[in-house]
Formats: sequence, structure tokens, C-alpha cells
Amino acid sequence: MTEVAEAEALILARMPSWPSIRTATGASRGRVLREVIVAERDQPPFDRVTMDGIAISCADWSGGLRRFESIGTQAAGAPASTLTGPGQCVEIMTGAVCPAGADTIIPVERLRREPGSTIIVDETPIDRGQCIHPRGSDRRQGDRLLEAGIRIGATEIAVIASAGYADVAVAALPRVAMISTGDELVGPREPLAPYQIRSTNDFSIEASLALAGLAEVTCARLRDDETALTRAVAALHDDHDALIVSGGVSMGQFDFVPAVLERLGAELVFHRVEQRPGRPLLFAISRDAKPIFALPGNPVSALVCLTRYVIPALRHAAGLQADPMERAVLTDSVTRSGRLTYFLPVKLGWDEQGTETAEPRATNTSGDFVSLAGTDGFVELPKGRKHDPKGTVARVFRW
Ligand code: AMP
Ligand code: MG
Repeated sequence: MTEVAEAEALILARMPSWPSIRTATGASRGRVLREVIVAERDQPPFDRVTMDGIAISCADWSGGLRRFESIGTQAAGAPASTLTGPGQCVEIMTGAVCPAGADTIIPVERLRREPGSTIIVDETPIDRGQCIHPRGSDRRQGDRLLEAGIRIGATEIAVIASAGYADVAVAALPRVAMISTGDELVGPREPLAPYQIRSTNDFSIEASLALAGLAEVTCARLRDDETALTRAVAALHDDHDALIVSGGVSMGQFDFVPAVLERLGAELVFHRVEQRPGRPLLFAISRDAKPIFALPGNPVSALVCLTRYVIPALRHAAGLQADPMERAVLTDSVTRSGRLTYFLPVKLGWDEQGTETAEPRATNTSGDFVSLAGTDGFVELPKGRKHDPKGTVARVFRW
């Protein structure tokens, strides 16, 4: 049987890299950047005034001048005006270009207006260059502003827009088919026999992938019928970049997924991992080199396997830089068999020192998905230990 770290490495080694596409900058939020963003101009592109007031020459003020002749008004978006002689000022607005001959801004709060002149009313010292954000002081033209492999969020999209990109290269979103298998599964609003259950994995898995912005998901619900399953999986495979199957991957008489994948010529990279929950996990590569994740149907197992393996795999295929490993301190001790790596749902928080904490929220069984609501994810507790005392530092995976 495969170890957790080995399973992860086998998956990452076999994942394809999704192609890059260009998308309008305004639609690029949440996507993975696939090009370096380069500064179009110096940033700021000119000596930018940062307060409403007057622009003067500091030398005038140092020479004792307090009364200035206003030679005009300059708003943001207007070309720079010019001070042509001593004692002059320009009425200036935030965002305007600093006028030629001026090097200092006096804010309106310090001014009094008289017809034809403006007076500085206090003797608070001024600094040459005050209230001016100098050209190129943030970045220079041609500087690399963003590197490929980051997620485009609110701050990054501003940088892309600032550099004049109308569209930007991002990782294409893979089309993923989420296939729920099981004769017992029924959708919402459909009539329900006492021996049937509502299907939940399609909803949770689609939600997880969509919230992570990692895939365009199509859901299908199939019966435990080997021939029908083979046909449907083959068709879904042809129309998608990756498959996620839930259920039918264990040892039961109606668990046809491994056989179906083999019949379709897929290479089973591994089947069963030394972990709990989620032991029956299977990873395969189709004849067309598409990844296939077959997750056990138990809702807790399915979501744990999705979060532990599928999400990192899709991040990798999108070219997303790896996040630093998140860790938290257990707020309670945990006792377990120690034979397998154990994934334990937790509620995350912080203690008074600012250390991240993980409060164990064990589920009743791996079918107890109701207890997962309100948890933040799970911790990974390595095999070989029967007891993890309170204070143990554990790796965290968020849903
Ligand atoms: P299986 O992996 O097919 O043996 O299923 C294991 C358990 O998970 C069974 O109790 C199934 O009824 C349940 N299960 C399988 N698929 C789903 C699903 N899509 N939604 C909710 N429960 C499921
Ligand atoms: Mg089943």
C-alpha cells in the first residue's frame, strides 16, 4: 500500500500542466497568472502631488517669502504648468503633476487666500519635496512587477491594470467531470425511498473546486452498473481534462470503478493509501494522459482526499506557486491506532501569543459529514504514533 507522501509525489509527477490562455484583465480575478507583468512606465510616472494646496519653490520659503502670487490652477490630469519667477505658486490638486520650477507643496490647511495672492499662515517648518511622491520612487519602467504563478487577487489586478495590460496570460481552467457513483444516490427534490440517500459529494466537491477557482466542473450521477459505467466514463473522459469519481472504489461486489478504468486502458498509478479516512483512494492516468482521481464515496473520506490530493494537484497543473506549509498546535490530545496516517477535522483559531491552534472535531464515522460543517479543515497526524499530546504541532489542510 502507498504512503501519503508517496501518493502525493506520484500524483504531482504525473499531472499535466494546463495551457495558458489570454483573458481580459477585468475577468482575470482568481486566475493563476502565467506571465511576468512589467512596468509600462516609472511608478509613479511623474512627480505626483499628494495633497491639495499650492506648489511653490522651497527656496522662496527659505528666503522668507510667505505671500505667493497665484499664476493658475492645475488639476489632476492636466499637463504641468511652470513657475517662471520667484514668489509664484500654482493652486494644485492631489494627483496633479508637480509644476516645473516647484518642488514643495503646502497643504490648503496652512493657507489663507486674498485676492491675487495666497499666504502661508503658520511658521511650521517645511521640507523640500513634501507632499510629492517622486517619479519612479516605487518602481522603474521595465521593472518586473509580478511573477508568473501567483493568484490574481484585488491587489495584483491593480498592478496588472497599472501596467496597461488589457488582457493577461492565465492558466486555462480545466474541464473536470465529477462523477458520483452509487445506486443509492438521489438528488434534491427527487422522491426518496427509505433505503436511498441524498447525494452530497457532487455538491461538496464542485463547491470546493469552484471556490478554489481551479476547475470548471460538470457533475454526473451514475449507477453501479459496470457496462453503463464504462460507457459513461469513456464519454465523460473524452469531453474533459480530468475526472473525479466518487464511490465504487473499495472492495464491494458493486465497486466497479477500478475495473472500469482498467477496461478503458487507464494506468492505475496507485490504489489504496495508508491513511484514514480515505484508504481506498485510487489515482490513474488515462490513455490520453488525463488524470483520474477515484475517491471513496464516504463524504468525509471524499472531501479529505479531494483536499489532500486533488486540490494540490490542480494547483500544480495551473502552475500556482506552492503555499508555505500551514501548521497549528493541537488544543487537545488525540488517541488513535497509529497504524495509518490520520486526518482529523479541526476548528482553527489563535492563542494569545498569536500561534495558530487546531481544536479536534472528530466525526462519528467517515459518513458523518454533518459534523464537518463549521470545521475549517483537518490536521495530518503521521502514522506510527498512538498518542498526540495537546500542544503537538500538526500540518493543516483547509477545506
Ligand atoms: P462507496 O465508496 O461507493 O462504497 O460508498 C461508501 C459510502 O459513501 C456509502 O455509504 C455510500 O452510500 C456513501 N456515498 C457514496 N457516494 C456518495 C455521494 N455522492 N454522496 C453521499 N454519500 C455517498
Ligand atoms: Mg458505492
